[in-house]
Amino acid sequence: RGGRAAARARVSAGRIVASSVEQSYIMIKPDGVQRGLVGEIISRFEKKGFLLKGLKLFQCPKDLAQEHYKDLKDKPFFPGLIEYITSGPVVCMAWEGVGVVASARKLIGATNPLQAEPGTIRGDLAVQTGRNVVHGSDSPDNGKREIALWFKEGELCEWESVLTPWLIE
Ligand code: ADP
Repeated sequence: RGGRAAARARVSAGRIVASSVEQSYIMIKPDGVQRGLVGEIISRFEKKGFLLKGLKLFQCPKDLAQEHYKDLKDKPFFPGLIEYITSGPVVCMAWEGVGVVASARKLIGATNPLQAEPGTIRGDLAVQTGRNVVHGSDSPDNGKREIALWFKEGELCEWESVLTPWLIE
């Protein structure tokens, strides 16, 4: 009993830093799905210790892809990017944690997989910018924006992981 109470206390201690808890939109792109890398990629975020709040396999319509990448609409690669993202199902995920946005970007690695460090997802699993297997939000504000864009109300789960006291003191 005492142990359980202590565990709960540590969980709530973890919650004291609630203001710095962020969410990142992470997406396995169609090449990652086709290449059978879904488990491998999800596993990296699970093992790191972030909390999965939303997950779905999804065929992205063209207008959603265009909205998601609207800041790149004037780039020469934009039409190819939209074709790529809509070419097959993607895996949409919302991951939560303190510092998750910047940490996920590190786990994912540089945009160009040939420049991404070994040990990162792109560094280990991809060779070309146009097939770089995974997306991660680049700021907490974009994390919120993208999760709202890709998930409908009711698709995210509020839950507590029993691992939290073993991850956050
Ligand atoms: P990141 O995904 O690392 O945040 P960007 O926001 O710069 O990178 O670009 C978004 C996505 O657009 C990239 O992940 C990649 O799929 C695609 N992209 C970026 N630059 C190029 C390029 N030069 N050629 C083809 N695709 C590109």
